Amino acid sequence: MAVAQRTSFLESVNLMFDRAAALLDVPPGLAEFIKRGNSVIQVRFPVKIRGEYRVLTGWRATHSEHRLPAKGGIRYSPHLTQADVEAMAALMTYKCAIVDVPFGGSKGGLRIDPKEYTEEELEVITRRFARELAVKGYISPALNVPAPDLGTGPREMVWIADTYRTLFPDDLNAIACVTGKPVTQGGIRGREEATGRGVEYAIREFFRHPEDVERAGLSGGLEGKRVIVQGFGKVGYHVAKFLDEEDDAKVIAIIERDGAVVDERGLKVEHVAQYFREHGTLRGYPDALFVEDGRTLLEEECDILIPAAVEGQITLENAPHIKARLIVEAANGPTTYEADNILRERGITIIPDVYANAGGVTVSYFEWIKNLSHMRFGRLQRRLEEMRGEQVIKAIEAAVGRPIPDHLKAGLTRGADELDLVRSGLDDTMRQAYNEIREVYLSRRDVPDLRTAAYVLAIDKIARSYRETGV
Ligand code: GLU
Repeated sequence: MAVAQRTSFLESVNLMFDRAAALLDVPPGLAEFIKRGNSVIQVRFPVKIRGEYRVLTGWRATHSEHRLPAKGGIRYSPHLTQADVEAMAALMTYKCAIVDVPFGGSKGGLRIDPKEYTEEELEVITRRFARELAVKGYISPALNVPAPDLGTGPREMVWIADTYRTLFPDDLNAIACVTGKPVTQGGIRGREEATGRGVEYAIREFFRHPEDVERAGLSGGLEGKRVIVQGFGKVGYHVAKFLDEEDDAKVIAIIERDGAVVDERGLKVEHVAQYFREHGTLRGYPDALFVEDGRTLLEEECDILIPAAVEGQITLENAPHIKARLIVEAANGPTTYEADNILRERGITIIPDVYANAGGVTVSYFEWIKNLSHMRFGRLQRRLEEMRGEQVIKAIEAAVGRPIPDHLKAGLTRGADELDLVRSGLDDTMRQAYNEIREVYLSRRDVPDLRTAAYVLAIDKIARSYRETGV
């Protein structure tokens, strides 16, 4: 029996690109160049682990360099392929353009299962991989700056930064060769939560536009909306937590690899997270129903579905059965090209990955700037702001002849710290980008959905950059 042809991750991204490029006046050769990307390197290196030599394979793809450095995470996964890395590098290009982060797009990864290795072994592997990339120009504060992705985190980023610094000790900006570092090692406050926070800000901005909410078949605000989150890693955890604790949405299900927890009344996300941290699984969580085949819950009745796991989760098979009115893509590439077409025909609104999950790289940009300036944000002006606030209070009290209530004073006399500034910058970025995408969508009859609008916006900006500089 012939197996139905499925589009791969890379094909999906490229087809989405083609659909948007066809609506633009970009010379075909230039569009082709933007789409295909600039370079990709494969490295193979031996590591000696538990007395045995193992040969590991990794990649770094640089999709675009119209802005430098090229930016994007490093993923550790046993299933990783070069094509997947290229697909994600392309997404990074479009993402950065959409949120006006002045970087090119890149992505890298190693085909390993990090769970098979001890911390010491992972350090050896990461340092070796970093060296391979750095000496070939694929890690550098000026040219190519990695960040965490699936299977990596702040710990790996420190190893990478330290390896780079050892190789290039006279590079004054060495610490900016990677983002997503711990705060104690040149990282920035708010980077850990950034992607999830960005998803939250995107959803909030969507709900500020009643026409958009109505077009999606929803009504009212975010409060009380029934949300299903797939993936309880860094992104899924943060977005679920914020929606539950700060927006009063009802997170009715969380789907993980080995099963899902469901509670129609709304899960206490932090509670679930504590259990998950302790047991490494959602199975056995006492205060909710456990569903063995978690993926079936993607098709469950809800208002908002947030895929926050890996690519290729919403497919030809389940797209016809999805009941959410709004899908917010916190993961990279969770919807295949065919599924995207089905969902559009079914009138389901998608806030696409290239915008929705751009919070991570946005805060990476802030971290990179912080590293280049060698100073924490807010250090110069925080106390001045507080002093000004106190002066304003004194002036008002003198003018009206009575004291300002304490609770009003508190807000006026608190200067912004780094976390406040990061969140404010991220919020502004997500709002601005949503409105730019929306503008394209509403002003052009040939743009059928927000994803196409986002790609149109990205391709237009990138093509303009190439045209202005000359190729
Ligand atoms: N890995 C994240 C992403 O896919 C973050 C990339 C970055 O911060 O450079 O967007």
